[in-house]
Amino acid sequence: MYQAKQLQETLTELLGKEIAQASNEEIYDALLSMVQEMAAQKESAESKKKLYYISAEFLIGKLLSNNMINLGIYKDIKEILAANGKNLTDIEEVEPEPSLGNGGLGRLAACFLDSIATLGLSGDGIGLNYHLGLFKQEFENHLQKETPNPWIKEKSWLQRTDVVYPVSFNGFDVKARMYDVEVTGYNNQTNKLHLFDIDSVDESIVEDGIQFNKEDIKKNLTLFLYPDDGDENGRLLRIYQQYFMVSSGAQLILDECVAKGCSLYDLPDYAVIQINDTHPTMVIPELIRLLVERGMDMDAAIDVTARTCAYTNHTILAEALEKWPVTYLKKVVPQLVPIIEVLDDKVRRKYEDESVAIIDRYDTVHMAHIDIHYGFSVNGVAALHTEILKNSELNNFYRIYPEKFNNKTNGITFRRWLLHCNPMLSDYIESLIGDSFKKDASELSKLLQYKDDDAVLTKLMEIKHRNKENLCAYLKETQNVTISPDTIFDIQVKRLHEYKRQQLNALYIIDKYLEIKAGKIPAAPVTAIFGAKAAPAYTIAKDIIHLILCLQEIINNDPEANKYLRVVMVENYNVTKAEKLIPACDISEQISLASKEASGTGNMKFMLNGAVTLGTEDGANVEIHQEVGDDNIFVFGASSGEVIEHYAKGDYVARNYYENNPAIRAAIDFITSDIMLQVGQKEHLERLKNELINKDWFMTLLDFDSYKKAKEQALTAYTDQKEWAKKALVNIAKAGFFSSDRTIEEYNRDIWHLA
Ligand SMILES: *Cc1c(COP(=O)(O)O)cnc(C)c1O
Repeated sequence: MYQAKQLQETLTELLGKEIAQASNEEIYDALLSMVQEMAAQKESAESKKKLYYISAEFLIGKLLSNNMINLGIYKDIKEILAANGKNLTDIEEVEPEPSLGNGGLGRLAACFLDSIATLGLSGDGIGLNYHLGLFKQEFENHLQKETPNPWIKEKSWLQRTDVVYPVSFNGFDVKARMYDVEVTGYNNQTNKLHLFDIDSVDESIVEDGIQFNKEDIKKNLTLFLYPDDGDENGRLLRIYQQYFMVSSGAQLILDECVAKGCSLYDLPDYAVIQINDTHPTMVIPELIRLLVERGMDMDAAIDVTARTCAYTNHTILAEALEKWPVTYLKKVVPQLVPIIEVLDDKVRRKYEDESVAIIDRYDTVHMAHIDIHYGFSVNGVAALHTEILKNSELNNFYRIYPEKFNNKTNGITFRRWLLHCNPMLSDYIESLIGDSFKKDASELSKLLQYKDDDAVLTKLMEIKHRNKENLCAYLKETQNVTISPDTIFDIQVKRLHEYKRQQLNALYIIDKYLEIKAGKIPAAPVTAIFGAKAAPAYTIAKDIIHLILCLQEIINNDPEANKYLRVVMVENYNVTKAEKLIPACDISEQISLASKEASGTGNMKFMLNGAVTLGTEDGANVEIHQEVGDDNIFVFGASSGEVIEHYAKGDYVARNYYENNPAIRAAIDFITSDIMLQVGQKEHLERLKNELINKDWFMTLLDFDSYKKAKEQALTAYTDQKEWAKKALVNIAKAGFFSSDRTIEEYNRDIWHLA
């Protein structure tokens, strides 16, 4: 354990001056160095077998406070700073958030690294070091505008290493350099996140928003996460990135195993590779290629690889499953094409089923099919999701390989999503049940004994109110919007996608607004908060953002309505914003079309912080419902079975709802009403309206009535504060199952088998 006195001395020494005399930037840099030094002194977990978690995204969030919590020095540092007139919260603001992920999938990878280190398992992450990250979202004229998100400063968590691997593309070679980020476990070992990069990347080629020359691979390879794939060059660039990641990763894995004395035939005893979604799929043919290059025959190399790799599926949206034309692969990585052809040939000889082929009759490679045939495990990320994979989406594979399929319901790290983001709640829980919940999340259930304790319930509501005040101040400062902590905070923050149905929430808001204008006053005033980035090429998603921003403008400036209803769209939603929003939430909006959200993890973060879910029976909402029971969640909407049947029969007709349901009709017509057109742009609003009436692929209107009913129930329930506090308490108490420590224990028990 580190003494506070020692910490203060080290910090002063690093600063070269008194703490009180240093700027926040200087203190941040000094703390960064100190934490890096302490993390480097911790051992990495060692075992014969090691896990490599390969992922295109690691949405790690800011690291300073989290690392200090995990190293056990957070409270001391906070006090030392305070004693010198400094505020740790201000110093946290100095740190840029690494922009290495997009949404839930990348955040999951980050939570998993935390749990793997905390549980003392031997396992590192492998990914890419995108200099400009995803993109930064700005609002301009009520529209999303994308700008680069540079996050690497002179002093950062990245540590440049001397590890360099050659990676060959068609006609030229590049060098992949490894950078390491320390992953501190909570009071335990330190593992690593390895991020590969290329020295020649050139940020100055970016011009006009996020446009750049997509053909200059040596300069653009690691510029952006998910470069625009609207044209062929963009799609080729994604293949360049993916191969760069997996080839470097595979070389690292082989090097580490050989250094441990592994004969390549024993690789599955030394390494397990978890493939996070299909982006890293090429690690399979690449590993085979490298093994053959080192002297193994093809069949043995395939067998060894298939016993080393495991695949996690994250989506059942058909359009999201990656497929690459063979011609593209030939242009970028011709060395893999003969191997993929062999893999396809073997499958075709064994199974006369075109639907499970790797290369289809249009000469397109189905990446997920490689993973399923040539990996030993296929897992879904929530119970419902895995059942849908087995019974419908991947049923043809399930019938071939029933033993490969398994479920691993997602989880979140409670260190970041409770201890760090909500210290008031965390401290209060500790005062009630002790601190064992920090290591064993199931201990939270001890809170249930306070379910009828008025003092506890009152205190929980007080903490929530203080978190809401903090959010109000933050939004005032950052976006100059005024909201009241005495209203219900109803929050939907997540990537913008039609299946997540932000448009359903928006239609409800319009309906509510029209009711208020007609003199029907709501049971309690509500603040509807959104945060979401839309993929730059996703037109309808950007139209939905436009709709929400226009509603914000109209409703918040309408004195007749803004006493009862306000709308806020938070700019550039990311981990840092999530950490401020989630502790302040009353109602957690989880309203995806049933069967479409694989799991969700936002739902778990909200629950853990005492919000009550308003949701469909989708993804992990189903398991949240099971945990908390009917009284502590508001469930609505068509079931996944019903939705799947509608798709099968093709019998959902949005226009029928528009024509026969007056409330729906009024809400949709409002989108292109005069008052909207004064604020917004006709092209966007009309396109969105037409989409809702004529297509509505994700069945927004199907659930409108039941959503409205459930939301009214939730808003009314909130007016009984004590009953609401009870619901909040039960949600917190039952959140233990959703700790990523539990998830990782299951991965290890069923898939990885690390010592
Ligand atoms: C947790 C998280 C997500 C995932 O949210 P879902 O509601 O599960 O889609 C996305 N973005 C950020 C920044 C997150 O922290």
